[in-house]
Order: sequence, then C-alpha cells, then structure tokens
Amino acid sequence: METDTITAVATPPGEGGIAVIRVSGSDAVGKVSQIYKGKNNLRDVSSHTVHYGYMVHPETSERIDEVLVTVMRAPRTFTREDVVEISCHGGMVPVKEILEALQTIGIRMAEPGEFTKRAFLNGRIDLSQAEAVIDLIRAKTDRAAKVALTQHEGKLSHLIQKLRSEILETLAHLAVNVDYPEYDAEEMTSQYVMERCSYIEGEIERLLQTAKQGKIYREGIATVIVGRPNVGKSSLMNALTQENKAIVTDIPGTTRDVIEEYVNVRGIPLRLLDTAGIRETEDIVEKMGVERSQQELTRADLVLWVLSHVEGLTEDDKRLMEQMKQNQVIVIVNKTDLPRELDLDELKRLIGERPLITTSMKEDRGLDDLERAIESLFQLGRVELHEGAYVSNARHIHLLKTAKQSVGEVKMGIEAGMPLDMVEIDMKNAWQSLGEVIGDAVAEDLIDQIFANFCLGK
Ligand code: GDP
Ligand code: ZN
Repeated sequence: METDTITAVATPPGEGGIAVIRVSGSDAVGKVSQIYKGKNNLRDVSSHTVHYGYMVHPETSERIDEVLVTVMRAPRTFTREDVVEISCHGGMVPVKEILEALQTIGIRMAEPGEFTKRAFLNGRIDLSQAEAVIDLIRAKTDRAAKVALTQHEGKLSHLIQKLRSEILETLAHLAVNVDYPEYDAEEMTSQYVMERCSYIEGEIERLLQTAKQGKIYREGIATVIVGRPNVGKSSLMNALTQENKAIVTDIPGTTRDVIEEYVNVRGIPLRLLDTAGIRETEDIVEKMGVERSQQELTRADLVLWVLSHVEGLTEDDKRLMEQMKQNQVIVIVNKTDLPRELDLDELKRLIGERPLITTSMKEDRGLDDLERAIESLFQLGRVELHEGAYVSNARHIHLLKTAKQSVGEVKMGIEAGMPLDMVEIDMKNAWQSLGEVIGDAVAEDLIDQIFANFCLGK
C-alpha cells in the first residue's frame, strides 16, 4: 500500500543532547536520501543499519547538521512502513532546519498520534495496545509505566480475546438450538449458557476491579492538604516533595488550570492538588472559601488534614471535618516538639476511625509514619504487576461494563424462560462490546479521536 511520508520529532521538546526525527512512509528512505550526504547512498543500505553523515539543505547543499541515520525497512518497523530515524544535535535550530528541509522535499508533518495510528491500521498493534502508548507517555511513576507496558505487550488484549472466544462458543451452542429446534436440547443448552455466562461475568468483573487501581497508577491519588493557617501545611508539602523526588512533570500542551505536583510515596503516585495555593498563600482554608474547598474535596481521593499541637480545636476545625465526611482523611497533628494545647481525646472523638499521625516538621519526625499510613490506605504494595491484565482506560471500563450488562441480560432472559434466539442478541452485544476494546469493529471517527490524544511524534 502506498502511503505518504510523514515526519515528527520523537524526542521531548527542549534542549536535549540529541533529538530524534522520525520519518515514515512508502518512500521514506528515498526521500531522506535526497538530503543526506554520507559514505553510502541510503537507498542501497541494508535494513536496520545506522549511518553517519550530514543532513544538507535541499537547494544549496549546505550542511545543516552532523547526524546518525537509522534505516529500517518495512515490515519490521513500528509503523510497518519504511522508517528512517535521524539523530541530530538537540538544539532548537538543527531540529527546525532539518524539519524544514524534509518538508521542502515533500514530507508532511505528522498529526499527533499518526505514527501509532499507522501501526494500528497496518495491524502491527491492536487498539488497546495503541492506547497504552498514550499511557506510557503520560506515566507518572515506574509502576504506572509498568501497567501501561503490560497492556502494550498485549496482556489485556489476550484476555479479551479469550473471553470473546468463550462467548463465540456459547453463541455456537445457542445457534444450534435456534436453527434446529427439533433437537429439543433447550434445557441442556440453557444450563450450559448459564454456566458460561457466570464465568464470563466473573472474569469481566475481575478486570473491572483492577480499574480502580489502574486509575491510581495512571493519574495519581488526587491529594489535598488542608488546615488552618500556620499549622505547617507548606512545611509538609516541602517535606513530601523533597523526600520523594518529584516525578516527571506534565507533558507540554497538557497543562491543566490547577497547579499540581506529583510525588512518589513508596511507589504510590500522589497528585498534590492546588499546590500554588499552599505555596503562595498562607491561608488556604480561608482563601479557598467554603465553596471552593468543597469543590477541591469532591475531587480529592485523599485529604491530608494538618492541625497544630499548640492550638485547641476551633469551630473552623469542626466545620471542616463536617465537610470531609465523605473523604478519605489522614489527620496530622504537627508541631509535637512544642507544648501541647490540643485535646487529643476531643480530636479522636471528632475524627472517629480515621488514621491519626503525629509529626514535627521542625525536627523531621513522623513523616515515615505518614508514608506508612498512605501506603496501607491504598494497599498498592500487594499488587503483583507482572501478573494479569489491568484496565485503566475510561473507554475500556465503559465497554467492559456494557459487556457485563449484556451477559447479565442473557442470564436474566434464560431465567425468565425467554426464547433462546432472544438471548442470542444480548450475547452478540457482549461480543461486540469486548471487540471494541481491542479495536475490532470500532467506528472510524472514534479511532481518529483516540489517536488525536497522542503527543506529536508518537
Ligand atoms: P502553613 O501556614 O500551614 O503552610 O504553615 P507553614 O508550613 O508555613 O509553617 C508555619 C510556621 O510554623 C513556620 O514558621 C514553620 O517553620 C513552623 N513550623 C512548621 N512545622 C513545625 C513544627 O513541627 N514545629 C515547630 N516548632 N514549628 C513548625
Ligand atoms: Zn504555608
């Protein structure tokens, strides 16, 4: 199949040591060779080899940059098309000039995700694997990257395919009965279908259970630090970000309106919300106002509530606790190096079963306890990542829920004594929904939408 030739910078923007420019398409090698000068003509070299030389200006033949060029011929490439990767110096200028030169000779700038889209369309990867590439790019911790990688390697696809063949087999049993009612094996078939459906339902449910943890890996635990002025919120924030080296920053172009920082607490990614509020204003609760803080609290998976050892509880504290009724809260009593004014019994009555940690940010005490508390709340330590598939993608979760519901309807139909050709429809729907996870029978505009989520160059 003829494809036009596309290009993009594959390395992150900015001043890196080297930058990699990727070119893909039927005529990628021929095109790039027009502006490459080196010992060999790229058209003649064997596949998967690296060549030293220069990129030159298409009109003046002036040297643009010293480069290493990797030639990879179809089909053993990421896109299954001919691919050329140009490694050049990382500054803005060489990259920009090489891209301009490539465009002069008729190579088009790729749309976001277009490389991965081609890999998908050419059958190199399935849709859930392609989506995993997005997750990999955005992964905030090693573990998040591992989850995405597992999916990329096809664990999820494999499981989905297994479930689909179960459904297919069940459908075959149903079809025999529908087509040959004279066999009169309806009783047996019904029992068989019920059993298969319960099994399939259970497997889908297991996958859905991983979604909650998947979300945590992917997005981090949305965490807010609250408390009255001067209790030590900023100090806590600083301690957390210093001890647990801040994680990869957001990808350019995906910045959100709230300022967030990621910290890695024993492998658990915390996404600290509204850190600007804590860093810049000394008075977050009052500053945010009740309405605003309510909003923050609704978004939060975890609230770190800081109190001071040297002050008694106030009406504000009680009101705040009331607002946090629905939240997962860790209560932190700070400044324990100073004499106590706080009535601990009163506090315990107020907070009920919520974990209570005492700290002194000044003397660097208690942070370990806090990290342990966070860890046991989210219990991610026990998750075996190498094993099994994980779901962490909203589209997949939705489809799995739909499939599970269809399977449930099959069971209900059979229990209600509905004719088998009626339940067959629901079974087919389940097959369809699962198929959409891996990109079988996905509408074209959905595919475009999914790939538009990518960064450029992937
Ligand atoms: P925030 O207003 O809640 O953000 O509180 P800060 O973190 O800015 O701290 C307010 C003041 O309390 C600063 O002067 C800190 O140095 C001090 N402070 C913070 N934690 C402790 C602590 O554990 N012990 C003592 N003695 N002082 C602390
Ligand atoms: Zn502060």
